[in-house]
Amino acid sequence: MNLESVSLSIKEYAHSLGFQYCGISQAVFLEQEAPHLEKWLKTHKNAEMAYMEKYFDLRLNPKLLVEGAESVISVLLNYYPKQSQHKDNNAKIAKYAWGKDYHYVIKDKLHLLFDYIKTLLPDVQGRAFVDSAPVMDKVWAKRSGLGWIGKHSNLIVPKAGSFFLIGELIITEKLMYDAPIQDLCGTCTKCINACPTQAILEPYVVDANRCISYLTIELKNEIPDEFQNQMDGWIFGCDVCQDVCPWNIKFSTPTDEPYFTPLPEVSEYQLKDWLLLDEKTFKKIFKQSAISRPKYKGMMRNARFLLKNQKPLSDESFS
Ligand code: SF4
Ligand code: SF4
Repeated sequence: MNLESVSLSIKEYAHSLGFQYCGISQAVFLEQEAPHLEKWLKTHKNAEMAYMEKYFDLRLNPKLLVEGAESVISVLLNYYPKQSQHKDNNAKIAKYAWGKDYHYVIKDKLHLLFDYIKTLLPDVQGRAFVDSAPVMDKVWAKRSGLGWIGKHSNLIVPKAGSFFLIGELIITEKLMYDAPIQDLCGTCTKCINACPTQAILEPYVVDANRCISYLTIELKNEIPDEFQNQMDGWIFGCDVCQDVCPWNIKFSTPTDEPYFTPLPEVSEYQLKDWLLLDEKTFKKIFKQSAISRPKYKGMMRNARFLLKNQKPLSDESFS
């Protein structure tokens, strides 16, 4: 098989596993992205995510992650849910976390894809990545022509939107590479204008210190008081900049991935339910959910912070 037919077979197999998109790029040092990442880190836009500084070189060079790396295979999995959280929900959860933790779902599929590649290229070595190592997943997906990185810093797929999770295989064999596509944000600034905390400082620059996703998931300490009344009811993550994006409004279609079927608690739990939840029950319900990332302690902190934004609750609210 030549490079072209091997590459096409890999993409076909990726589709058969449920990935909507698969693109391939050359595993090279990310020269163009290096100064942007350096500036972002030097101006502390990574907030307390020190691991992003620690693995700076690895983040830019796939050959440091996989010896002899030649190709990065990027895959996308649609997570846009069939049903929505109740619109009056006062404890909103980012859509990617409504079903089973995507890390497990994508990694299992990537391992199956890698097994298939081994049948085509028996000497291949490689590793699968899903948010688990310092890999600039959006950049690789962009380089492989799957979309462009929008002003909100998420990957947007033409005529499909941005509600996709990204995974990669970095492998030691050469393949046929895809070409990047152009940025189609144009003069739009909807995401910048809609962000509840003004976290998109300028097009393509998100300050994690201000982003609700960071504040509710990654932040270890208390949420700063300056964000009182700005959380827009988000208890875990935030979808505002993606929800207002015209590419999502027009093109997002529900996923048929069974693992992303929302947990009933995600649609049903209001703030009062979160405040009454005990740790044992939290662990039982969200054991296999991305909502377990900030742990019980983090979710209770988020719930208490949202409560401060509310009018006083009467005893009946808890009945
Ligand atoms: S996720 Fe929310 S807080 Fe973060 S940049 Fe987007 S709209 Fe702003
Ligand atoms: S809302 Fe507009 S500017 Fe923001 S990512 Fe979407 S198209 Fe680009």
